[in-house]
Amino acid sequence: AKYSGKNKYVLFESQMSIKLKEKIELENILRKAIDGDGFMLHYQPIVDVKDGRIVSFEALTRMKNKNISPAKFIPLAEETNLIVVIGKWVIKKVAEQLNYWKSKGIEVRPIAINISPKQIKDEGFIYYIQDTLDEYNIEPRLLEIEITESIMVENKEEILKILQKLKEIGLTIALDDFGTGYSSLNYLTYIPVDKIKLDKSLSDKFLELDNLSVMSSIIMLAHSLNLKVTAEGIETESQYQKLKNIGCDFVQGYFFSMPLPHEEAERKLLD
Ligand code: C2E
Ligand code: CA
Ligand code: CA
Ligand code: CA
Repeated sequence: AKYSGKNKYVLFESQMSIKLKEKIELENILRKAIDGDGFMLHYQPIVDVKDGRIVSFEALTRMKNKNISPAKFIPLAEETNLIVVIGKWVIKKVAEQLNYWKSKGIEVRPIAINISPKQIKDEGFIYYIQDTLDEYNIEPRLLEIEITESIMVENKEEILKILQKLKEIGLTIALDDFGTGYSSLNYLTYIPVDKIKLDKSLSDKFLELDNLSVMSSIIMLAHSLNLKVTAEGIETESQYQKLKNIGCDFVQGYFFSMPLPHEEAERKLLD
């Protein structure tokens, strides 16, 4: 018994070290990408339900020449705090992109970026945003911030102040992944958000049924709080029609467009 116990321990340890090794490798890849211009942004159009026109884009980070999903590298970037540096790069890149489009005379649309809790708590976050918008001569209304309710887990008061300040500057704030947590409705009454983004899982579940009352109630509630509603992960015409019928404001998903490199996003914008 002692012997097999020891074997088990060895097996456990080797599995642990494989995971740990993978993590260390990925962390090295992230550090190299940070130092060596190894990230790029893709832009996914968000469209108006009424006329299908692009109202904004969501910027999503990609690794150049590497097939590693953000679902894999963003959590590690958060764990290692590298998300703070990556997040700054995202803000700068988006400002640069908006500035470039404006310089070409293109009528730009707001771009939304995802902000991690660690990033928003970083001292200087607000100054960095302000400085970058100034440097590239970008109106604050062109930058949207997507946060998830996990941002409210710690230091509620401090976070609320930061969000309030961002709104005063003129940024738009969206509550992302709505419907995946437990207390979303509660948060809506006191986080200063302008819109909510309904998670893909909600559309997958409730737009398949003929009973649309869940989605429709959420949208009515949001509207009664003066919030706009974006539905994410829309993949079919039928989902789109149903959302149109129940008064959803904006939609985003493969049915309209994948996230695109900036040249293709530009082409869509000019269409
Ligand atoms: P998210 O913010 O919820 O972004 C939406 C995700 O859904 C994106 O995945 C997008 O490519 C994907 N998506 C869009 N339409 C559809 C659809 O119709 N069907 C399906 N199946 N998926 C769709 P992506 O780009 O892999 O990003 C995953 C997550 O990684 C994001 O989820 C976000 O939480 C995080 N992330 C990505 N870029 C950044 C970033 O620059 N900073 C931070 N903090 N997080 C980021
Ligand atoms: Ca998002
Ligand atoms: Ca989301
Ligand atoms: Ca998410």
